[in-house]
Amino acid sequence: MAEPCIKVNQLRVIYNKGKSNEVRSLDGVDLEIYPQEYVIIYGPSGCGKSTLLYGISGLQPPTYGDVFVHGKNLAEMKKKEMVEFHQTSIGMVFQAFYLIETLTVLDNVCLPKVFRGENLRERREKAMELLQRFGIAEQADKFPAQLSGGQKQRVSIARALVNNPEIILADEPVGNLDSESAQNVLDIFQEINLTDKKTLIMVTHNPEHLAYADRVVYMKDGKKVSEEVNRDKRPKEALKKEVENVPTEISSELKLLMRTFKNLSLQQVGVLLIPFKAKQLLSHILSDLSEEQVNAAENLLKEFLFNNIDINALIEKLDLDFNKGGAGWNKLRAISFAQRVKSILDQSENIRENQKSNFIALSDYLNEVCGLKLTDDEIMLRFRSFIKLRVENKIDRFGLEQRLDAPKSLGGIGLYKNSADKVVREIELIMLLKYSA
Ligand code: ADP
Ligand code: MG
Repeated sequence: MAEPCIKVNQLRVIYNKGKSNEVRSLDGVDLEIYPQEYVIIYGPSGCGKSTLLYGISGLQPPTYGDVFVHGKNLAEMKKKEMVEFHQTSIGMVFQAFYLIETLTVLDNVCLPKVFRGENLRERREKAMELLQRFGIAEQADKFPAQLSGGQKQRVSIARALVNNPEIILADEPVGNLDSESAQNVLDIFQEINLTDKKTLIMVTHNPEHLAYADRVVYMKDGKKVSEEVNRDKRPKEALKKEVENVPTEISSELKLLMRTFKNLSLQQVGVLLIPFKAKQLLSHILSDLSEEQVNAAENLLKEFLFNNIDINALIEKLDLDFNKGGAGWNKLRAISFAQRVKSILDQSENIRENQKSNFIALSDYLNEVCGLKLTDDEIMLRFRSFIKLRVENKIDRFGLEQRLDAPKSLGGIGLYKNSADKVVREIELIMLLKYSA
């Protein structure tokens, strides 16, 4: 039976241990990765993704727990072995590239070979081969400052591959790139995994990347909270064992995202998500129109979300008769519908930036649109803090519903069940709409 090439056992990394500013960056993570798997580590900023990657690379020593790579405990490696390990067993790619500005592109790629004292001609040949493969051979004699972000990242991938390691670790490798360069880099990673058969671990906080991976490890607050398998490359025996170990709690939002993004390319995702958003928006706002009127409106809503028509054109076309290409509504309904759409979209735009004032605005909005009539200052503060928790994904929709439903005396908001339900549905939709291409 194939053995995992990476085994992380109850890994804990605690900074400033025992002091008032102690941070539990990793809080008991177990993870096994098998040869040739493409694993994404996904989670919000600060949840410990980079720390986990550094732990696997041997750069970050564990406070507790163990990391084994190819059966070898990293903590037991001698300094010389660790150097050898970094040179030959793993390649690393970072968001910030870390190229040496005073070396040419070619020399940057050759660098890991220089450290191994390899023959000049051979190492240049290998480096040129990689530059060619990634379409940057013409840049070989340039300096990093003369390259675009996407080109720089391709250079750093070439550098990671030049010693032909079996494992590639990448920390938010497309985080600084425009969408076209990001796509290009993601394609390269996929090729490295499928063609070169490298084991690949990529850290990201972008849900659009999830479909690329064979397996997604979802992290929160220094812990692995769930896993989602797209394609299983692990041996069957390993699987049985995993099923018992893996926590089953997956946020409904993540499930939705995974279902939506599975098997889609990045560009497809952007386009295909819009019809889905339109459908959700529509069924949320409407209930008593004919099927024809609903279908026509759905198409108009897609046009609107694609930015093909503006809000005024949307109103006009909703109001227009069927035979004139409209949705056959009436003016009043068209206006109130469009206003409702706009205010929901405004709120989802609003929560993109994680600012305090935005949560205040969102809470006021929910108070009004769901008819909650919350007036007490203390309860309103409490309400805001719950909304913030949900938007930041620190609680799931059920957690929010419970808090809204619980009596005020027990720290809740004391809403009626159907009001709590309304708030939850509104918020889930706003969060869905936030994800854009
Ligand atoms: P992510 O990559 O998911 O954004 P990190 O692994 O970088 O998260 O960080 C996890 C937590 O550990 C964060 O709260 C971060 O502030 C903290 N942290 C990371 N490095 C250090 C450090 N050197 N000293 C103190 N705290 C740190
Ligand atoms: Mg990070």
